[in-house]
Amino acid sequence: MAWTIRRNILNGVIAGGTAIFAAIRAPRSSAAQLQAITAQLNDEITEHQYVEQEPRAPKLSFEQQITELRRVQSRLQAVLDHVIEGIISLEPNGAIESFNRGAEQLLGYTAAEVIGRKVNVLMPEPYYSDYDHYLTDYPPDDLPRVAGTIRSVELRRKDGSLVPVELSTNEIHHEDEHLFVTIVRDLTERKRIEQMRKEFVSIVSHELRTPLTSIRGSLGLIAGGIAGELPEQAKQLITIAYNNSERLGLLINDILDIEKIESGKMRFALKPQALQPLIEAALEANQAYAEQYGVHYRLEDIHSETQYAKVNVDTDRLLQVMANLLSNAAKFSPLGAPVDISVTSGEHWARVTVADHGPGIADEFRDRIFQKFSQADSSDTRQKGGSGLGLSISKALVEKMGGRIGFDTEPGTGTRFYFELPIWHDLEFTALPAGCNNAGRGRILICEDDYDIGALIGLLLKRRGFTCDIVGDAEEARQRLAQTHYDAIIVDLMLPGESGITLIRSLRTAPATRELPIVVVSGLAQAGCEALAGSGFAVLDWLDKPIDQQRLIAAVEQATRSEMTGKPKILHVEDDPDLQRVIGLLLADAAEVVAVMDFRSAEQAMARQRFDLVILDIVLPDGSGLNLLPLLNRQVPPVPVIVFSSQEPDPEHLHEVAEVLVKTRTSNEELLETITALVQRDKERSWGSADNVTVDNGAPLENEKACMTTLAPGKEYQ
Ligand code: ADP
Repeated sequence: MAWTIRRNILNGVIAGGTAIFAAIRAPRSSAAQLQAITAQLNDEITEHQYVEQEPRAPKLSFEQQITELRRVQSRLQAVLDHVIEGIISLEPNGAIESFNRGAEQLLGYTAAEVIGRKVNVLMPEPYYSDYDHYLTDYPPDDLPRVAGTIRSVELRRKDGSLVPVELSTNEIHHEDEHLFVTIVRDLTERKRIEQMRKEFVSIVSHELRTPLTSIRGSLGLIAGGIAGELPEQAKQLITIAYNNSERLGLLINDILDIEKIESGKMRFALKPQALQPLIEAALEANQAYAEQYGVHYRLEDIHSETQYAKVNVDTDRLLQVMANLLSNAAKFSPLGAPVDISVTSGEHWARVTVADHGPGIADEFRDRIFQKFSQADSSDTRQKGGSGLGLSISKALVEKMGGRIGFDTEPGTGTRFYFELPIWHDLEFTALPAGCNNAGRGRILICEDDYDIGALIGLLLKRRGFTCDIVGDAEEARQRLAQTHYDAIIVDLMLPGESGITLIRSLRTAPATRELPIVVVSGLAQAGCEALAGSGFAVLDWLDKPIDQQRLIAAVEQATRSEMTGKPKILHVEDDPDLQRVIGLLLADAAEVVAVMDFRSAEQAMARQRFDLVILDIVLPDGSGLNLLPLLNRQVPPVPVIVFSSQEPDPEHLHEVAEVLVKTRTSNEELLETITALVQRDKERSWGSADNVTVDNGAPLENEKACMTTLAPGKEYQ
């Protein structure tokens, strides 16, 4: 009988976690509750008096039943009080109903001090003050919105200090009443460990990358013959050392990539572009790797509709995914075997497949293959090297670009890794809006790498009866012009790869496009110029009218100085002396390099002379190298900057620099090429663009940043 009753009561009250609340409701009105329970007990007893009971259950007197009930209640209370986490129950109007010992210890209040008060007593500003509004805006019935949620927030202790916590809230229904229970977990320790992890990653990033870059750079120079012809054995050893420094660099980059992906800091410069050229570029870039393993990549014939399939991706990240799949396929292929790459597309998805004839992937490893640091547990895999991070990074990258990744495998036969990306459908601008009768005004090609701006221009023109096509770069523009007749082209000056100015020049020299009217749309004049200063487009400053004479003279002086010495002057700001020396050697033939160790010396050097280019490390002993950017951008014309650092600058600084190269991700050749191209480009822009092209500001486009200017063949426009 006792058990039946007890079970009945408990069943009524205990529904999973709600048991806790039967107990924790007690502190506020335990006498009343006890009365209610006693009444219920009486009912139960009466009701069960004549009913057949469990035969062996001993009969308890009423007092015994009360004692038993109290015992159960106090046991539950003891359980609650010994939970390390804070447990707080709330009424629907936000009043605290119970507060266990864990909550007392964490937040410094006693239960008596907070029970009955609104829960915002535990919240920091502005939530403390906003809480009443919140309750007004979201009446109690809406509170279930928080039920079932887990959130990381900060709570305010009695002494005013803040504590990071995780709150998991659930709603409990009991006998027509409902209340909310929140488990409060202290996150202080977890946050401390997270902070340590961040610091560790930052140390890895800076402290390892910089010396590693010196090592790799030096080894590369020695292998390239800077120290003269080496004995055969020394050559071999240098090659081993170089390859291993490369491996170490890759590992560090992988770890940092994972960190960036997990913290949501990885930037994606998405751009709609044709998929096929990207895949071809990936194959070319990885060809040498395949050769190391004696395998070759074969690109299957691509159907004509797939050839034009576009995807909206970040070029570098897509190449990174391809590099991983291709290198894995090469690593695991038997000597001499082909790796087959195919690109297919449907209406909504394009699929890239990399198929090898390797050992396949064992059943027991398949579920783990995309996890971090996972490698099949075979000595063969270990021998192939790698970090076990590549596929996990690839999966994250593909997913961030809206795609999915997977594989089919057959042990002993091979593996097909594939990823799919949503097809990008270009906006059609051919339809005329209702009521627009000036149809057939012509077909315009818009060459603009920012798709939104391109689409905006397209819409504006469409409203005036034009038909438009959008392309993202100079090469694509040339291809379209060769295929289709256009009545005009709109060119953005800041195109990826080949600049708008170069495109204009080439159009002017080609007989077919010599007469093609060109409209330059650039966000670079005036307002846009400041934001983009230093990114190599400074020359557009003085193309604005009226021409600022001082700027013009300074630019002339700058160019003549470079002409006289023949070599550009480069300021290298780097606190690592070894890396200074390596870069000095690397650029010995190409430039005059002044190397300084810190921010102050850089400022002094810049006060003494003008540089054609600055190579900048971010972390300097006396502050951030990024603080030099305003100084450099203030110079006339602004000095282009390459950030060459183990840290990547925050996105807010990206528009201020011409290039960001990350140590260990950049080879000697890349560095040299970038520097040469930048210095060259800067000179060309200062002079080359001036001699045969005059640009004038026109009416502002609806987008504030952009301004429209018109060029016609052989004519200057005012
Ligand atoms: P890594 O190659 O750097 O070790 P990945 O994440 O790219 O890291 O790959 C993880 C593991 O998956 C590899 O170590 C290997 O065991 C397995 N794997 C990946 N690609 C293939 C493949 N094409 N054939 C067989 N096994 C593979």
